[in-house]
Amino acid sequence: METDTEKLKKSEKSSEQKKIPKICSWCGMIFSIDDWEFKTGHKIHVTHGICPKCFAKEKAEGEKIK
Ligand SMILES: [Zn+2]
Repeated sequence: METDTEKLKKSEKSSEQKKIPKICSWCGMIFSIDDWEFKTGHKIHVTHGICPKCFAKEKAEGEKIK
């Protein structure tokens, strides 16, 4: 039978914390770095989003069109 400590050790081994950069699709700048938990062996990809700067710009553009 496994003890709780052994179980905990196993779960620690099967997943790991990684820092995933978030890249702005508009300007290509890394605007935030998130902590993610991954299963060991999982392929890591950067995530894309929009940085606050481009978001404000896009919002302003949208308001202009209206
Ligand atoms: Zn941007």
